[in-house]
Amino acid sequence: MAEIERIRGVLLDIDGVLYAGGRAIGGGKETVAWLASAGIPFRCVSNTTSRSRRSIAARLRTMGYDIDASWIFNPPLAAIRRLQGKRTFLLAQGDVGDDFLAAGVPLVEEGAEMVVIGDAGNSFTYRAMNLAFRAVLEGAGIVALEKDRYWMGADGLMLSAGPFVAALEYATGSEAAVVGKPSPEFFRLALEDMGVRPSEALMVGDDLASDIGGAQAAGMKTALVRTGKFRQDAFEASPIRPDLLLPSIADLPGALSKRYI
Ligand SMILES: [Mg+2]
Repeated sequence: MAEIERIRGVLLDIDGVLYAGGRAIGGGKETVAWLASAGIPFRCVSNTTSRSRRSIAARLRTMGYDIDASWIFNPPLAAIRRLQGKRTFLLAQGDVGDDFLAAGVPLVEEGAEMVVIGDAGNSFTYRAMNLAFRAVLEGAGIVALEKDRYWMGADGLMLSAGPFVAALEYATGSEAAVVGKPSPEFFRLALEDMGVRPSEALMVGDDLASDIGGAQAAGMKTALVRTGKFRQDAFEASPIRPDLLLPSIADLPGALSKRYI
């Protein structure tokens, strides 16, 4: 494990780190409170594309986390920067459209200049995918809110947006711009908000490729937790190695205190 210098800011993944399968991870809220008391700023970076920032924060609060909506960085925030007000066909679910509407992005079904695709869950119908397919053939660009393969649901692994983004790319021959994790621009957005340089920041996540690989490419230090979608066999098969490997987020204060404070 690489030696790490003092950490001045932390990015926390949400699903699989703060909660898993709809339940808070034990010790999570104590860790969040510890970061605040230790004066270490943090932001939550989630590839969740089925809820708006406000909904994500509200859900975390029901689990006991004291987290403000403005501390949540989700892929819609990064996508909005790219869309520049273009007419957008949004393939997503829940109230995630609120984040786009709040930024003045016109959401349309026909005549779209951009197709934005997130985890639409059961809204990934043939009709919706075909609308997206036709829009791209007529010249629309594709923005993928995330391109993860799967995530851990309450009753097992669930397909994420990635397989559907790949289907759209395969059908159209166009490549999607991925704006969520592991895009370096996404990590930078959250770090800029804290005024912390990548080399002084730690990313905590449960996804080796998106969280750990992505943050390393952005120049950050990393901690992988063995909760959420962590799988020992996938870890052993991967060349990606985090700076820290922790049983869960509950172990973060101990690891940081031992090494940096
Ligand atoms: Mg996760």
